[in-house]
Amino acid sequence: MINLKCAICNQTEVIKINEPMRVRFECKNGHKWFENYIDNGGTHKRPKSYEVKLEDVLFPSEKVIYEKMLKELEANKEFYATADPLEKTKSLIKKCNINEREMYSIMKKITSYNK
Ligand SMILES: [Zn+2]
Repeated sequence: MINLKCAICNQTEVIKINEPMRVRFECKNGHKWFENYIDNGGTHKRPKSYEVKLEDVLFPSEKVIYEKMLKELEANKEFYATADPLEKTKSLIKKCNINEREMYSIMKKITSYNK
């Protein structure tokens, strides 16, 4: 994986989305920019598919958290199958050592991805 960096704020928390026309980038501070594919004079190779995967829309730090969450869910399957949503959220926040904002930002992405 290439290390991406925002040209405006130097933020390295950047996501890259392959769109059919061009490549879209977004940094965690909300800056967006576009770059071209090779056939449009840019440097990016076209992907085999433009399907956007969940991991494509998670910032690098969110990917780390998401993996922790998956591990925790897997390790305590029974609890998460029966607990109410608030308990689940609280437990995930505590066990994964993350804050509520991070948690909800990721949950929002997962929800919109699953639609
Ligand atoms: Zn930025």
